[in-house]
Amino acid sequence: MAEQLRSRDGQQEKRQRFTKVELVEWLNEHNPDKVSSLFQEADHVRKFYMGGEVHIRGIIEFSNHCRKDCLYCGLRKSNDQLVRYRMGLEEIFQAAQEARRLDFRTVVLQSGEDPAYSVGDLCILVKRMKKELNLAITLGIGERSFEEYKKFKDAGADRYLLKFETSSPSLFKRLKPDSTYAERLRCLEWLKELGYQVGSGNIVGLPGQTSESLAEDILLFKALDLDMIGIGPFIPHPNTPLAGTPLGDLEQTLKVIALARMVTRNTHIPATTAVGTIDPAGRQKALQCGANVIMPNATPKEFRKHYQIYPNKICLDESPQNCRFCIEAMVTSLGRKIVSGFGDTLKHPHSGPLGDRKSHLPREDIFPIKIV
Ligand code: SF4
Repeated sequence: MAEQLRSRDGQQEKRQRFTKVELVEWLNEHNPDKVSSLFQEADHVRKFYMGGEVHIRGIIEFSNHCRKDCLYCGLRKSNDQLVRYRMGLEEIFQAAQEARRLDFRTVVLQSGEDPAYSVGDLCILVKRMKKELNLAITLGIGERSFEEYKKFKDAGADRYLLKFETSSPSLFKRLKPDSTYAERLRCLEWLKELGYQVGSGNIVGLPGQTSESLAEDILLFKALDLDMIGIGPFIPHPNTPLAGTPLGDLEQTLKVIALARMVTRNTHIPATTAVGTIDPAGRQKALQCGANVIMPNATPKEFRKHYQIYPNKICLDESPQNCRFCIEAMVTSLGRKIVSGFGDTLKHPHSGPLGDRKSHLPREDIFPIKIV
């Protein structure tokens, strides 16, 4: 079935919708010429809907404590080899201030599911960051109740990242024993209902995952009408039950990125750090087959090496400033340019051509700024 969508400059393009069978065929395709044509087409679709700009978002990984025990994750509570840390609220604010100084207009506050931070304190932090730094704020702090999501939204959080990791309920159950697939999807629905710009995503190459299951992941991206989709390869961590299982495949990950771009069209898709970890040119390759966002690490250097969802992560020894410059050089070498705007979803009713509202300053003070 064909459908028509408008590009950023108002042109219309007619494209075929993908069926699950067609997605599986592409995921099983290994002919280099055909795979290369898929990547070129995805790059064309990215350019048509998103333009040539690459949006940057600074990630602040503020705590590596987690109450859950996902089998693939180095932050899992059973990993007693990991040095744990928690940044104080003032430290988090200062990291965000440094990111702002480096011209980031959006930051992602990310952690394991760590109950040590109260909802009230996090709301105060979000509110202060909005008021003093005029940043777009994304939270990536896991599954919460509807009321908690609402409090963060009321405090000024703009976006929320919650990857579903896999759309296979049985695989989900095996890999995420403390959670259920239904709860995960319910959280994503709540976030939508509350007006967040919602990001989700998957992991490619999980043990037991099939091409059919990956095709369903891509169709779920579309069905959820996501604003951002994070796609990364599975990288086995030595201190988890999945140690020694095979690494996710780069080409398969790039195919999922390309197909996600072609199916969802005007969604932000990052070239993830995980893609850059399994191949030194992984992020450049992702940017050339559908990705349009890069998320440099803005975590203070002393904490970075301990945020080990997977091992051998790149850029651990770089300062936030070096990461910023390095990414700028990488993007320029591809003939693209960094934009340091808010990078809002293009699906937002108030978005301009670059997805930007004029300001992310809060419209009113709901409660006084006080950092504990
Ligand atoms: S994937 Fe998330 S919830 Fe699961 S153990 Fe890692 S940090 Fe915790």
